[in-house]
Amino acid sequence: MRDENCIFCKIAAGEIPSATLYEDDDFRVILDLGPASKGHALILPKNHYRNLYDIDDEVASKAILLAKKMITKLTDVLNCDGYNIVQNNEEAAGQTVFHFHMHMIPRYKNDNVGL
Ligand code: 5GP
Ligand code: ZN
Repeated sequence: MRDENCIFCKIAAGEIPSATLYEDDDFRVILDLGPASKGHALILPKNHYRNLYDIDDEVASKAILLAKKMITKLTDVLNCDGYNIVQNNEEAAGQTVFHFHMHMIPRYKNDNVGL
């Protein structure tokens, strides 16, 4: 399941290089090119889904479990004080790349990140 015109399909497949933090058969986790804070990362499924409206239940479940695992580890590595998980669905909600992704945004005390 892939969309030939989708940049995140190409990144997830490793055809476009990215700063990869984690990879398995189903997902690639990369650093965001325009980070909201230090360590802002994106969870991308390797298969193409437009957003939460059409993602498989099984992939959605795996994605949240992966987020849970990753923020636990990354909180130690980054020494951050908290995390936002953000996931936008459709243009009206701020989605700009139409391949499902979850933002993992580390938060630091008084960082003034506006979400
Ligand atoms: P959205 O607004 O769709 O929820 O989030 C898209 C995110 O993808 C943005 O935070 C943007 O900075 C990031 N982004 C867009 N294009 C690329 C890219 O080519 N590589 C990476 N690593 N991030 C990207
Ligand atoms: Zn895609």
